[in-house]
Amino acid sequence: MTVTRRTIGSTIAAAVAAASLPGGARAAQPLATTQAPGFFRYRVGDMQVTAINDGMAYRGLDNFVPNAPPGALQQAMADNFLPADRFPIPFTTLVVNTGSKLVLLDTGNGDLGAPTTGTWMANFRAAGFDPAKVDAVVFSHFHGDHINGFRLKDGTAVFPQAEIMVPAAEWDFWTSDDKRASAPDGIKPTFDNVRRVFGPVMANVTRYGWDKEVAPGITAIQAAGHTPGHTGFAIASGSAKLLALSDTTNNPLIFARHPDWSAIFDQDAAMARTTRRRMLDMAASERMQVAFYHAPFPATGHIAREGDGFAFVPLMWTPAT
Ligand SMILES: [Zn+2]
Repeated sequence: MTVTRRTIGSTIAAAVAAASLPGGARAAQPLATTQAPGFFRYRVGDMQVTAINDGMAYRGLDNFVPNAPPGALQQAMADNFLPADRFPIPFTTLVVNTGSKLVLLDTGNGDLGAPTTGTWMANFRAAGFDPAKVDAVVFSHFHGDHINGFRLKDGTAVFPQAEIMVPAAEWDFWTSDDKRASAPDGIKPTFDNVRRVFGPVMANVTRYGWDKEVAPGITAIQAAGHTPGHTGFAIASGSAKLLALSDTTNNPLIFARHPDWSAIFDQDAAMARTTRRRMLDMAASERMQVAFYHAPFPATGHIAREGDGFAFVPLMWTPAT
């Protein structure tokens, strides 16, 4: 038989009909509802990076990208085979074993995220890690999806032994009573959440500056705009380098291709746009491997130039690290 669009269509129709026959044959094995644990390891020179997934959240499309032309986000979603009615936001933190330290970059949603999140600890443990053995937690910025995993709703400190590293500019902004007083009501809860998470450890926090090493081989890069102290990281070992872009873009399937679009979470949209172009341009020019916090898992790959924007090219899954 010659396979045409019509014969494929009728074959699918027959298969659907057979599957829905009352009393028709069924596999004894029920359909599964879960995946393998969400972790993925890769090397950066002598270091080992493990991406740990914390599920997904979804946002409605209305006003999600305030500066996109009307209908353009819907068109971009269709072009990328993404849902027509909701924007998928995956969450992936990085564990970096530098050889001398186990460093965690951001902590996920903890028990305060959307119901489709909160898988982080199970995935972290499935990868063989123990939260009590994390030497340092380095934060990129203070949005809840990045810091809530550090302290549970009931106040439990999740990484009791870890040194706590925060961007100085981020700390100065979110811990300022004056900034809170003058902030729009919509972001006041973020100020309060920063106090909830860091209040009990205020005296133990190390504030880091940009262009400084925060851990062996891990350098903080200024990436402000998304928040005042938003930070990316260069993770380097020998000639190998990974650029962790944090929230320089939200899901890069859309925002790498449209780097001038700013998601609603970008606090200073113009600055975020400038930062996004600078960081993506650097990644494309230097052909560096990148990691995003909100990319499809395992949230790592490369950046190619496409039109007047960029394209995220995911890394292929490999069975060995
Ligand atoms: Zn985020």
